[in-house]
Amino acid sequence: MSEYDFNNERERKRFYGSASWLRLRQEVLKRDHNECIECAKEGKVTTREAAVLEIDHIQEIKDRPDLALDIDNLRTLCKYHHNVRHDRFDGRVQQEKVRRWDDEQW
Ligand SMILES: [Zn+2]
Repeated sequence: MSEYDFNNERERKRFYGSASWLRLRQEVLKRDHNECIECAKEGKVTTREAAVLEIDHIQEIKDRPDLALDIDNLRTLCKYHHNVRHDRFDGRVQQEKVRRWDDEQW
């Protein structure tokens, strides 16, 4: 089990401010060549100079707190792809989802 309770916002902040997280975060950025890996898949290079890069937990910390500091569970995403992944866009992503659903032939 983790020493942090990730369901608690204050605890999450404490985690993201911890020395072990900040150190690991740098390692992930280095491993991913300071690039968003989703942009890279699309053939685009999005570096720290071009966008804000964030570190994403592949298995979310609230589901797998034990993997919170596992480098294999971490990847570099730009702010855009991080938001897409977490459905943080109300408008566009939602619409795309609806469209995709409509496209399916049942
Ligand atoms: Zn990206």
